[in-house]
Amino acid sequence: MSRMAQRVASFGTTIFAEINRLARQHGAINLGQGAPDFDAPSPVLEAAIRAICSQLNQYAPNIGLPEAREAIARHAERFYGQRVAPDHVLITAGATEAMFAAILGLSDPGDEIIVFQPVYDSYVPNMRMAGVLPRYVNLYPPDWTFDPDELAAAFTPRTKAIIINTPHNPTGKCYARHELEIIAELCLRHNVIAITDEVYEHITYDGVQHVRLATLDGMADRTLTISSLGKTFSATGWKVGWAIGAPELVESVNRAHQFITYSVATPLQAAAATALNLPDSYFESLRAEFQRKRDWLLEMLRSAGFQPLAPQGSYFIMVDWRGVAPEYVRNDVQFAEWLIREVGVACIPPSAFYRAEDKHLAAHFARFAVCKRDETLQAAAERLAAMRVSGD
Ligand code: PMP
Ligand code: GLN
Repeated sequence: MSRMAQRVASFGTTIFAEINRLARQHGAINLGQGAPDFDAPSPVLEAAIRAICSQLNQYAPNIGLPEAREAIARHAERFYGQRVAPDHVLITAGATEAMFAAILGLSDPGDEIIVFQPVYDSYVPNMRMAGVLPRYVNLYPPDWTFDPDELAAAFTPRTKAIIINTPHNPTGKCYARHELEIIAELCLRHNVIAITDEVYEHITYDGVQHVRLATLDGMADRTLTISSLGKTFSATGWKVGWAIGAPELVESVNRAHQFITYSVATPLQAAAATALNLPDSYFESLRAEFQRKRDWLLEMLRSAGFQPLAPQGSYFIMVDWRGVAPEYVRNDVQFAEWLIREVGVACIPPSAFYRAEDKHLAAHFARFAVCKRDETLQAAAERLAAMRVSGD
């Protein structure tokens, strides 16, 4: 008899762990998991070291270090004109914990939460653990737009919340203001809250501006904004995230958070304050550097025979791989395995972001990560170019 609880028995292993294992096994260049292979900026690293050497090594206050919450509030005002009191900021173990605590703290078993598909892989398992039912609304390629009627039909009397991830993983979609207005109007009409995941807020391309749903008319009181340090400061292993929102929302999230982690690594919170207070030039150069890498990887993928769908933001590029792989490769999982084994480059099969009955929607896609050193991208490009030559 299995000792594993029903609650988790259907989860399997995350696609990121599986692809990392396969990539290691075959010595593949890893453009799979969205984790930089370069380091965080030195002022941020130095701030963490200073904090560790300054006796900041005991529990932080449950809602977070005051200087980190103040920095998060200042950052929200600097970039989005969003005015939040530091008391309405809760620090969590990454955006991942913020989302789980939000689902636990804001919905009851039997409630429904709307998600857009493809959907980041942790949200639905979080809902299942909370006894909450997901309602799916599709994003359609090539532009990953949604059908407003389909979205309207997903709202029911049991809808508690809608989750919006922008810039979006895995498609790189940045929700346009007019799309967010449609969502806001439905939230107001149905008295539903919005939970946003904005971890890629500073990684946008081609002049696209990230729009924060909480700043739209009527949404300040009904939006919980989640983000984290990982992507903006190339420190995905730090797992410092936060949730911002109206007092009742943040208090609800904290009721769960206090009994999940209680509080988050104190010295890293001190360093988060330094990071978020960096001058505008830091954020501008991060964006410029990612734009350069994205343009380069797009070009490499095109020359290798892929049809990429240019992302507007995030760490990722989705491509259509038909025309690249041999006939016997039938779907995205087989493609990812083939690419790792035969070409020596790892990508993520995006069907991991679809529910079982919709996995076919991702069958011709692969997701490549941009957040890599130039040497890594160059090495991947060489292998992909060799694949083209030998395949012709
Ligand atoms: N949300 C999205 C959309 C992500 O892509 C990721 C991972 N990279 C996370 C959340 C996780 O963020 P964190 O490491 O801060 O928990
Ligand atoms: N968000 C990262 C990605 O999509 C992975 C994070 C994780 O491994 N859980 O690649």
